[in-house]
Amino acid sequence: MCRHLAYLGPPVPLAALLFEPAHGLAHQAWAPRDMRGGGTINADGFGVGWYAADADQPIRYRSAMPLWTDAALPGIAAVTSSTAILAAVRSATVGMPVIETAAAPFRHDRWLFSHNGVVRGYPGALAGPAAELPVEDLLTLEAPTDSAALFALFRHRLRAGKTAEDAVASLISDISEISPDSRLNLLLTDGERIIASTVGHALSIRVLTDSVLVASEPLDDHPGWRAVPDRSLLTATVSDLTMGDL
Ligand code: GLN
Repeated sequence: MCRHLAYLGPPVPLAALLFEPAHGLAHQAWAPRDMRGGGTINADGFGVGWYAADADQPIRYRSAMPLWTDAALPGIAAVTSSTAILAAVRSATVGMPVIETAAAPFRHDRWLFSHNGVVRGYPGALAGPAAELPVEDLLTLEAPTDSAALFALFRHRLRAGKTAEDAVASLISDISEISPDSRLNLLLTDGERIIASTVGHALSIRVLTDSVLVASEPLDDHPGWRAVPDRSLLTATVSDLTMGDL
């Protein structure tokens, strides 16, 4: 299944997450260690989102190609720094298209969103929840994938007044009820906090005095990485971490 990560803290170049660590996201793209039967490599596209001081929305760079084949990315990643970064590499679920717009992160206002996993029985399994969406949202889905539909549902629940944590928790509860074998590792940031769920896939966290890093797999062998238990919902800022059961 896909691999994703999010960082908050002092500005770091994208390369510090993608290329520099021994098991950075570029390495996890072609040599992941913990796919749990969901494919073998993450060659079906990638995306990086980050926050720039003078932009209202986070900036994204996405592609349908394997991350390691992008000749421009190492140079861009070396000179682009941010205080908040979310990146993902994709292993498309069987039957879902390999297109740029299916690669996370998805974006709404200040939010970036990634999904590692699968909604079993898609699209039928999502028909009920999707019925709550305005027609225009359905007509403008970024891609015909479970992840894009989950993102549209998250966005709609935010607009309806839920907090981001409640939107994520309610979505997971609804989907888990309809389709219990689904894997729902969601990862979001608004540039100030990270929200992450673990349902069926691995996730690790590394907290430092002024930064926090959450990733499907630890980026290096540092003993400071902690595994997040399955069925958790965590919210992290640079100074605070809360973790609860889903
Ligand atoms: N089901 C999602 C997709 O195909 C995510 C896949 C994954 O986590 N490997 O895009």
